[in-house]
Amino acid sequence: MSWEENVRKVVPYTPGEQPKIKNIIKLNTNENPYPPSPLVYRAYEEICLEDYRKYPDPTCSGLVEAIASFYGVDKDNVFVGVGSDDVLAMAFLTFFNSDKPILFPDITYSFYDVWADLYRIPYRQIPLKDDFTIEPGDYFGENGGVVIANPNAPTGVKLPLDAIEEIIKNNSDVVVIVDEAYVDFGAETALPLIDKYDNLLVVRTYSKSRSLAGLRIGYAFGSKKLIKYLSDDKFSFNSYTMNMPSLTLGAASMRDKEYFEETTAKVVATREKTKKELKALGFEFGDSATNFIFARHPQKPGKEIFDYLRSHDIIVRRFDKPERISEYLRISVGTDEEMDKLISVLKECLGN
Ligand SMILES: *Cc1c(COP(=O)(O)O)cnc(C)c1O
Repeated sequence: MSWEENVRKVVPYTPGEQPKIKNIIKLNTNENPYPPSPLVYRAYEEICLEDYRKYPDPTCSGLVEAIASFYGVDKDNVFVGVGSDDVLAMAFLTFFNSDKPILFPDITYSFYDVWADLYRIPYRQIPLKDDFTIEPGDYFGENGGVVIANPNAPTGVKLPLDAIEEIIKNNSDVVVIVDEAYVDFGAETALPLIDKYDNLLVVRTYSKSRSLAGLRIGYAFGSKKLIKYLSDDKFSFNSYTMNMPSLTLGAASMRDKEYFEETTAKVVATREKTKKELKALGFEFGDSATNFIFARHPQKPGKEIFDYLRSHDIIVRRFDKPERISEYLRISVGTDEEMDKLISVLKECLGN
C-alpha cells in the first residue's frame, strides 16, 4: 500500500502556449488583439497599493453591481470567479452531483471532461453532426446535467437560441450550463431565459471580448436560487477568490459599453474579411460566430501548415484528438495587419 493509491489523479487540461518570444503573431488562445478600455487604464492609475494590506471584498459587490447594471439584471443573479474556468469548475462541483452522466458534445471545450474526471462525475460525450452542429434532441434523455458552449469551441459554430431553449426545456430536472465565452462575437445570448428557467446557468468571461485574459475574471447569470447554491459552495472553498485589482479594473471595464462595442465590431469585421481570404486559398470551415476560425485545407495536412506558420513566427492552435479534427487549425482573429501577414505566409505555404 502506497500513499499514491489514494491520490486524486487526473490528466490535466493543456492550456495554449504563452511564448516569451517577442514579435510573434500570437493567434493560438483567442485573446483580444486590442488593449483594455481606457477606463481600465484610468482606474489602474488610481489603485492604492496601501489598501492591499487588507483582504478584498468577499462579496465582490463593486464588480457584481457593474455587471448587473450592464446587463440589466439583479445583483443576486450574478456570480463572479477567477476566469470562467473557475466559475465553470465551481458550477460542476455544485450542480453535477448525480449518478447519471452529464452530457456535452464530443468536440467542445476540452476542459469539461477534465473537470468531470477530477470530480468523478460520470459523463457522456455526444458526437456533433458532420457539419459540427449540435442536434438538440440528443440531449433530451435522462442525464445528470448538460453543458453546451454557444458558440461552440473549437468549431466556432453557433446554435440558435430556440434550439438552446429546447435543450433547457427538456432538462428541467437537471442544471443546464451554457458557456458563452464567445457570445459577444455573434451569437444570441440565453441570458433572458434565466427568468423563465431556474435551472439555467449562463457563463461569461472577460478574457475574449473584454481584452482582459490576464486579469482572470469570469461571471455567470442564473436564478437567485441557483446563484445562492453556487455561492454557498464557493464560500466553502475559498472566500477571497477575486483579488483587489480584478475587482476594481473589472468594474471599470464593464462601465465602458462604447469601447466594448467598438472593439468587438472590429474583431468581427476582421473575421469576415479573413474568412473570404481563407476561402479564396481553398480552406474549408464552418461559419464561425466567434473570434477564431476553425479551418482545414483539403490539400495540405494541418500539421504541415501549423509547422510552416510556426517557423514564420505565427502561432495557431491544433488538436491531435479527436481524430476528426486533427487536420484543423484554430486561428484566432488578430488585427488586420496580423491577419494580412497570416494570409501572405499561408499563400507561400500553399505555393501560390
Ligand atoms: C476561453 C474559454 C473559457 C475560459 O475562459 P477564462 O475566463 O479565461 O477562464 C471557457 N470556455 C470556453 C469555451 C473558452 O473558450
